[in-house]
Amino acid sequence: AVAEAARGSNRYADHRATEARHRIAHWLGVEPEMVTVGCGSVGLLQQLALTYVDPGDEVVYPWRSFEVYPVYTQLMGGTAVTVPLNADLGFDLDAVAAAVRSRTKLVLLATPHNPTGTAVSTDALAAMLERIPEETIVVIDEAYREFVDPGFGDPVAELVPDHPNVVVTRTFSKAHGLAGLRVGYAVGHPDVISTVDKTMLPFSVNALAQAAALAALEHEAEIVEQVAAILAERARVEAELASAGWTLPNHQGNFVWLTLGDATDDVAVQLERHGVVIRPFSGEGIRVTIGTPDENDRFLTTLSEVAAP
Ligand code: PMP
Repeated sequence: AVAEAARGSNRYADHRATEARHRIAHWLGVEPEMVTVGCGSVGLLQQLALTYVDPGDEVVYPWRSFEVYPVYTQLMGGTAVTVPLNADLGFDLDAVAAAVRSRTKLVLLATPHNPTGTAVSTDALAAMLERIPEETIVVIDEAYREFVDPGFGDPVAELVPDHPNVVVTRTFSKAHGLAGLRVGYAVGHPDVISTVDKTMLPFSVNALAQAAALAALEHEAEIVEQVAAILAERARVEAELASAGWTLPNHQGNFVWLTLGDATDDVAVQLERHGVVIRPFSGEGIRVTIGTPDENDRFLTTLSEVAAP
């Protein structure tokens, strides 16, 4: 589909990616006016910041979290108000609600969370939303949506209909394997979606990306299979780590997190010397993406040589 679309590269693509919006909406069971698409979900997060955050406004998010949250907050001249993660490396939603004040324009919650992999349930989010004013937009960043245990619920089905201030962002980058093509989508109230659309970089979802997203939607069964394979590997890696004595958070993404504290940088360098590239967060720990079974074995073997719990 991408190669075919490339043959038409002399022409502009549909600026609004209308077909993709409609097909995503149909797939999710929502109205097309409730969906927008962007240059990755990171592009939509930037649009949300552009839309709602003026200099001096506050943006609330748990920290550590996805690295773009502070970047976009600062770009808009906003002030970050961060809430520490709880002891389980997840969110303290009471503390998040308590941090929201009159100047808070956005709340950013990644679930599953990057980098620790923990998730929050729609019930817990619904309880938190009761305490947040409707003028504050609450972004539920579900980049890792497809990997989460269904027991956590579905914010698009359960929260968006009753909460006009909730926007859910998702992506074709992770489970659908299209990270290099850059397509994400956001689901929310039509007024919010049309407002966010005003900040759209024209033609931001290019023709190849649109074609890829449409083709991916035609291959849902393959994606479900791929996700199942990743989840099986995640369970295997977790079991091996646990039996080696590591304490793990409740991983719901396509990666695992190891708390390493001050040893983080050293372990990262040693892993990399052995050809295992992970994502270190200095002084905190490492995020390790679930790869192929061989890659995962190589990580587990190398880790056992360079670090102990
Ligand atoms: N949200 C979170 C929590 C992420 O970890 C990432 C990617 N690392 C994204 C959004 C962005 O993904 P993309 O722009 O490729 O959709």
